[in-house]
Amino acid sequence: MTAEWVDAVERVEAAAEAGRADTDRSAQFPVEALAAMRRSGLLGLTVPQRYGGFGASLDDLVDVTERLGRTDLSVALVFTMHCQQVAALDGYGGDKLREEVLPAVAAGDVYLASVTTEPGKGGHLLTSESEVTEDEGVLRIDRDAPIVTGGLHADGFLVTTRSPGATAPSQVDLVYAGRDQLDLEVLGDWQPLGMRATHSVPMRLRGAAPQWQVIGGHGAFRDITTAVFGPLAHLGWSAAWLGTAAGAYSRLLRHARGPAGRRQFDLTSELVRLRLAGVRERLDVVNALLRHTLAVVRAAPDRSAPPVQLVLNTLKVRAADECFAAVHETVELAGLRHGYLTGSPLGLEQAFRDLRSASLNYGNDRLRLANGALTALDQGVRLA
Ligand SMILES: Cc1cc2nc3c(=O)[nH]c(=O)nc-3n(C[C@H](O)[C@H](O)[C@H](O)COP(=O)(O)OP(=O)(O)OC[C@H]3O[C@@H](n4cnc5c(N)ncnc54)[C@H](O)[C@@H]3O)c2cc1C
Repeated sequence: MTAEWVDAVERVEAAAEAGRADTDRSAQFPVEALAAMRRSGLLGLTVPQRYGGFGASLDDLVDVTERLGRTDLSVALVFTMHCQQVAALDGYGGDKLREEVLPAVAAGDVYLASVTTEPGKGGHLLTSESEVTEDEGVLRIDRDAPIVTGGLHADGFLVTTRSPGATAPSQVDLVYAGRDQLDLEVLGDWQPLGMRATHSVPMRLRGAAPQWQVIGGHGAFRDITTAVFGPLAHLGWSAAWLGTAAGAYSRLLRHARGPAGRRQFDLTSELVRLRLAGVRERLDVVNALLRHTLAVVRAAPDRSAPPVQLVLNTLKVRAADECFAAVHETVELAGLRHGYLTGSPLGLEQAFRDLRSASLNYGNDRLRLANGALTALDQGVRLA
């Protein structure tokens, strides 16, 4: 990390820490943390330098996301999902679209939201039921979106739609639409168990976008998913979850070794030591898998190869399960007062609630089903 980003990350961390209890309680978006991302330049972390961004690598994105996750999982998710949209735009957007949007992202003027989930199909990513019509080079969008993180605060949206004139739901486009090109209607409330500060409201998006705002051309969403959306989602989410589980564990350890904690925790007890080791094992395993998958993605000439897709899916599934299990065991270690009550400065109950979403945020079962099919194609069991 360069000194400039360290400063930017620290400013966002400070804003996230200051607002965490309030945004969690009220299920409101972390507006101060987003403002800090805009001002500090962190929104443009992965925007190439020629567009005014920091030009950071995938490894840097993972490191920054993990760090933010230690403070607030909602903030880390908001950040990493935005960077996932940036990567799709940069990798597949046409020149005009990139030149219009990416400098604005780097300047802190454009925060990007993601619209892939649809009411009828649940989380199934590679199909769409929302057809757009095309009229003289203009696409008319009318899209129900049941869950849009930061939807009220975003300046631009990457929206999946069925390609104009598509004959099958699998012909899916990814379209960029600026906030000023859309009428946005909020269809309901956001009152979840955890991830409350993502403020992921249901919305209806209606508007029009010119043809050149289709990212990668008609029907390109499958390729974009394989090469960019899937890898960045799984790496970014896993880094955010790991950060949250590690942050919770670190706060418990500091407490246990401090004056108040020493009265509660006997660190020479074999039971305590076994439990401490168990949490650490889970974190080390996720970290190892995350770093390995990052290296595989970095080196892969073709990210669609089954061994690459398999390990990416395995990372998401295992990181979701292990990080939640780690924080569950951390709560057990801490006991009622610091593990279960909302007022504890250790924030374990929030981490527990937040991490409960991990297996659902693109359902683990969906990825296991995909891996079951993929692994049958890899009879040589070529491990990535
Ligand atoms: C905090 C948070 C933020 C989010 N932000 C956004 C956002 O900004 N934009 C966005 O578009 N989406 C967002 N999502 C949605 C997310 O990406 C998933 O699409 C969504 O969580 C899946 O919802 P689901 O469980 O209803 O759907 P499904 O994946 O349809 O799963 C429903 C149930 O069906 C099971 N199931 C899945 N596949 C099959 C199958 N083939 N056969 C049988 N059963 C199956 C699952 O295990 C699950 O029990 C967010 C989710 C969370 C938790």
